[in-house]
Amino acid sequence: MFKEYIHYEDLTNSQKLEIDKFEKDTSYKYENILCSLCLGQNHKILFNNERHGIKQKTVMCDDCGLLFANPRLDYQSSQSFYNSDTYRKIYWNNKLKSENDFYNEVCKEIESYEFSPPKKVNFAKWHKNLYLDFICEEVKDFKTVFDIGCGKGIKLLDFKNLGKEVEGIEPSEILNKCHKKYQINSTKGFIVDLKGKYDLVIITHVLEHLHNIDESIKRIQEATNKYLFVEVPGHVENIQSIQNAHNYYFSFNTLNYFIQNNKFKLIKMDYARDSEFIFALYKKTEENNSFSYDRGLEKKLIRKIKLKYQFKYFVLKILRFFKIEKLTKKIYNKIR
Ligand SMILES: [Zn+2]
Repeated sequence: MFKEYIHYEDLTNSQKLEIDKFEKDTSYKYENILCSLCLGQNHKILFNNERHGIKQKTVMCDDCGLLFANPRLDYQSSQSFYNSDTYRKIYWNNKLKSENDFYNEVCKEIESYEFSPPKKVNFAKWHKNLYLDFICEEVKDFKTVFDIGCGKGIKLLDFKNLGKEVEGIEPSEILNKCHKKYQINSTKGFIVDLKGKYDLVIITHVLEHLHNIDESIKRIQEATNKYLFVEVPGHVENIQSIQNAHNYYFSFNTLNYFIQNNKFKLIKMDYARDSEFIFALYKKTEENNSFSYDRGLEKKLIRKIKLKYQFKYFVLKILRFFKIEKLTKKIYNKIR
């Protein structure tokens, strides 16, 4: 029972239908993988499902404590899933009915963009400028910025306002159409298409989606002149949101392992206390570094946050049984 990941959002009937359709679709192929960090074969199942209820297993490597999806959609299948209506209908909950809706929504957001200069960094609460506050507090000597998976292009606008030369890459065709309309300097593509070198490379909420993380970071290292900034969902004190679009779930240690062992040195890392998103800034090095961590302690951390989760799960189940979940949440939010 505790291997169920509780759904925090109410699924609509159309979401449920799409999930059913997705799970019965035999054109999606799954692959069993070894641990990407230590090649370990012994994995413990943490959850049998993800936050939409999709039967996607999340495991912990019993040797190093890395959390990842396994078995997972193979590369081809995950690409066709991302490009499908099914993905949009499950994740967007029909709020945006068509690709055109999405295009208009993003255009509106770009049009209403206002630059706000970096302030003193404060990790108490996540906000959309936190990344900028953090980077600008740590480093200043960079001229060119490259955003991998630049999304709506907002970060490129931020750095342009700071007088930097900016460029981005983004796989989504619709987002690229938006960039074109507002002259945001980006191309359609992804990490394999990286060309050129940039003083600062940023990659936010992308690493957790990758298929081959080590190979991707090697490619990123080649495109970096000086600094790499990473933002990912993390587990510091709590389990992060489990979803089938994520292949990896990082802690401070596992993120550092992948990056620092690919010729980067940590400058600083921290996390937003509410969302537990991890922010990390690295400096490129010429020589190989060797980063390791206490694997026993890492597994202990996972067990601790899983236990905390189980307690929350138990309370939620009781509230749901008595149908007082919404009422309790209302009261809780008011008190907070
Ligand atoms: Zn491992």
